[in-house]
Amino acid sequence: MSIAPSFAAIESRIAAACTAARRPRESVMLLAVSKTKPAPVIAAAAALGQHAFGENYVQEALPKIAELAALGLDWHHIGPIQSNKTADIAQHFAWAHGVDRLKIAQRLADQRPAHLPPLNVCVQVNVSGEASKSGCAPQDALPLCRAVAQLPRLRLRGLMALPAPAATDEDARASFRTMHSLFVALRAEHAELDTLSMGMSDDFEQAIAEGSTLIRVGTALFGKRGAGKTASEPAS
Ligand SMILES: *Cc1c(COP(=O)(O)O)cnc(C)c1O
Repeated sequence: MSIAPSFAAIESRIAAACTAARRPRESVMLLAVSKTKPAPVIAAAAALGQHAFGENYVQEALPKIAELAALGLDWHHIGPIQSNKTADIAQHFAWAHGVDRLKIAQRLADQRPAHLPPLNVCVQVNVSGEASKSGCAPQDALPLCRAVAQLPRLRLRGLMALPAPAATDEDARASFRTMHSLFVALRAEHAELDTLSMGMSDDFEQAIAEGSTLIRVGTALFGKRGAGKTASEPAS
């Protein structure tokens, strides 16, 4: 099955959401979330012009990154980060979105190889306050960002959120709005920050309306991830 139609459909939805929000199309980047999808599917997306891909699981991603190395793609790690995975992330990814404590950021900084450009980092915020979710508490986001911005070999880019599924459109927008306020506060100190990573297949239009600059879309581009493959669900 060709993925070209779904890429075209998502592109027009992004363009429409940007127009509705009076934002230029270039202000929103599409990250194609390719977890559980095999290398040939990713290569097909790359042939359509997609350059940035998101993966949750280091073990699953590394063989795909190796197999597709010649394509020069940008790989974003978007899942929770365990200490024993930081070396692989530092060595093989361009971005890490799930940084939620200083210890993890320090390990990534120590382990980022000198020959690579700095690792782009977003600080993940647990905006909906679920006990089970990763991400720092909203009130800890600014202090953590200040500390991360001091570390060598990392380039702090902004904030990331994965809000709980919202019951209503307004609830979804409220979480995104909270994130945007945090981002504005952060940019008052660090004007160079350019990334607010929020919005997925089911809510990216609301996220764009509230100021997202990077949406992470999997299902709507590649179809459902296999039922029964529990490892395909985001670890929480
Ligand atoms: C899986 C995942 C996505 C993509 O979710 P879809 O609903 O398939 O678009 C985005 N962000 C994170 C952190 C994920 O784990």
